[in-house]
Amino acid sequence: MLNVVPKGTGWLEVICGCMFSGKTEELIRRLRRARIARMDVVIFKPGIDERYELDDIVSHSEQRLESIRVESAREIEERAGNAQVVGIDEAQFISGDLLGVVRRLANRGKRVIISGLDTDYRGVPFEPMPALMCEAEVVTKLLAVCHRCGAPAHRTQRIRGGRDRVQVGGQGEYEARCRTCFEPPDDSGELVGQGRLFNGD
Ligand code: ADP
Ligand code: MG
Ligand code: ZN
Repeated sequence: MLNVVPKGTGWLEVICGCMFSGKTEELIRRLRRARIARMDVVIFKPGIDERYELDDIVSHSEQRLESIRVESAREIEERAGNAQVVGIDEAQFISGDLLGVVRRLANRGKRVIISGLDTDYRGVPFEPMPALMCEAEVVTKLLAVCHRCGAPAHRTQRIRGGRDRVQVGGQGEYEARCRTCFEPPDDSGELVGQGRLFNGD
């Protein structure tokens, strides 16, 4: 939970964690409070499923807030307009130079709040989240509840499906897992060791 807000400057907040850790809920909570403070708020999410241009960000607990689907980071910069607060959900799926865009928005005085997965289903850092966390004034890392044993969980376990890094899904496709219960795919340790997953995998 974040109880501080910037005064008179822009800044960047990152909310990260595994699936089901409450990132979208926390993003919605902060954005609602900004609205209560009469701030001008705009929310973006990646256009992975682009049936409508305008759509909600929705948490697993069915909280929702209207948002704008974008295809790239550049579109966020173009459409942020005069908003004082810019929220971005599922940041790990937004293509382009998101780091450069949010840096410019924050430098121009906007409060930028980003939510996204810090690691993929193999437990490998999910770009550009690591760089965004370094750029941020405030980073919040949330834990889920391990679906298997109930312990605090920081990993996203893929239950079914292939080996594509991006595979949109929810309950049924993924589970939150703790360190003990997480079962990484066979080859991920080897690939991480070779550093191959960090460039263009
Ligand atoms: P995220 O955006 O991080 O995937 P959400 O904010 O969408 O998470 O959803 C969080 C909500 O999901 C929780 O408040 C709870 O109602 C529900 N939930 C379902 N499974 C779990 C779990 N294993 N751990 C924690 N919350 C869970
Ligand atoms: Mg979410
Ligand atoms: Zn567990």
